Amino acid sequence: MSRNKGRTKATSPAPAQAAKAAPTQTTGLSYVTPTEFVELPSRGQFYSADHPLHNQETVELRFMTAKDEDILTSQALLKNGLAIDRLVSNLIVDKNINPDDLLIGDKNALLVAARVSGYGADYTVQVSCPSCGTAQEHTFDLTAFENNEGIQPEENSESGVAATDNGTFTAVLPRTGYTAEFRLFTSQDEKDVMQASVKKTRHKLADSAATDLLKILVVSVNGIEDRAEVNNFIDNMPAQDARHIRGCVQVVTPNVNMNQPCECSSCGAVTDVEVPFTAEFFWPKQ
Ligand SMILES: [Zn+2]
Repeated sequence: MSRNKGRTKATSPAPAQAAKAAPTQTTGLSYVTPTEFVELPSRGQFYSADHPLHNQETVELRFMTAKDEDILTSQALLKNGLAIDRLVSNLIVDKNINPDDLLIGDKNALLVAARVSGYGADYTVQVSCPSCGTAQEHTFDLTAFENNEGIQPEENSESGVAATDNGTFTAVLPRTGYTAEFRLFTSQDEKDVMQASVKKTRHKLADSAATDLLKILVVSVNGIEDRAEVNNFIDNMPAQDARHIRGCVQVVTPNVNMNQPCECSSCGAVTDVEVPFTAEFFWPKQ
């Protein structure tokens, strides 16, 4: 008898009642997603005067939520390569900013910040040692990157690169002696080059991503802006001149410095390794 009584007491629904009562005493589960200000490597330079990012050194970014994760797992968006762009678009607080306009280095800074807010700063990924080739897992600290503002032309005048007032640059080409004016690479440009490349593969045409890129970035040659003329010049320009423009673009582009020292567990060499953007960047292994 006494044992049965005890058992009845033990299964009494008291804890459940207490839990039910709780919500009436709170204001619910409202949660305001925090935001942060992310420093742009460009510091707002090279955006035209009427652009919302002109002279803006930071962009306010919302932290990643569970709903944002849905974007990253949407098969349709992943297939079209749009998942990352949609994510950036959703996270930027100021909706006047068109994410397609972002300079590529600025977009990289936002992606790194979004990744840290969503999954933390530790990024474990397979790298191979540049000295001995051994593949090994390395954990990068994504908060340790520094922005590189690009080498300003006045510091690098020997290269013949100069900044214009329009956010573009000019460079004197070593072979032809022509002056090429170029602008910096944006997120939209990246999409265009990628889509063109996919189209060419589908139609079994030779890939021309390198010249496609130059056709996008070169604004004028010797002051001539006519697209047909400029594109024709690019198709026929000496390889050395093309290489010079690509080198100049790289030097002046503000970006996130994605290199971090990595010690090899096999040979002990410490080398600077560029953090690879792999699937684990936004889809970390559990
Ligand atoms: Zn090694």
